[in-house]
Amino acid sequence: MRVPVTLMRLGRQSVRAPKLPFPGAVKLRAAQIAPISSFDRVTAFPPEQWHDLQAFRPQVLVGLQADLLHLAAAVKLGGVDTSSVDHAVFVLTECGDQALLDVSRVVLWQTFGVPVYELLVGKQGDLLASECQAHQGWHIEANAEFFIRNGELRARACGGHIETTGLAGYIETATCACGRAGARVMLEPAPLDSETWNELAATA
Ligand SMILES: [Zn+2]
Repeated sequence: MRVPVTLMRLGRQSVRAPKLPFPGAVKLRAAQIAPISSFDRVTAFPPEQWHDLQAFRPQVLVGLQADLLHLAAAVKLGGVDTSSVDHAVFVLTECGDQALLDVSRVVLWQTFGVPVYELLVGKQGDLLASECQAHQGWHIEANAEFFIRNGELRARACGGHIETTGLAGYIETATCACGRAGARVMLEPAPLDSETWNELAATA
């Protein structure tokens, strides 16, 4: 099981859980679809507690791609009411996991009706980079650094160990269109698999 950031220790210094990278996030009710919350002021809702989501009335949802898709399926079946969600959905992608698929993004957008942003987190729960609100790459968090080795993006948080992301891309240092300063990670689109190529060829 993933170690929650609130319980993590680096040396003797305890590490605070990161805040969600969203303006005014501390004033919003946010639910993480997981057994344990890994963000400050975010309440965890494992599947057995999803029936409590309606009373909690979350405005923001956080979770791994698979867990959010699981919730979306429950919402579609009418088992869970998430109509209170009115700000954003944050998809957590752990280093080494597959990045959010376009088809999953569409499902989440159609189900929850709010913008979907991806957050890259380390295996210890550190927030490493967050998708730009103008969708112009991923802004690198202040406590993280990225570099490229053997064509792959690698990351390190708080001077900790290096994490392989499994992602291809480059580092962009030009000012972002959204106005946020600092470097960004720009992902290269995943190569299309043969099945998708065949579908495209059939519709050409
Ligand atoms: Zn930006």
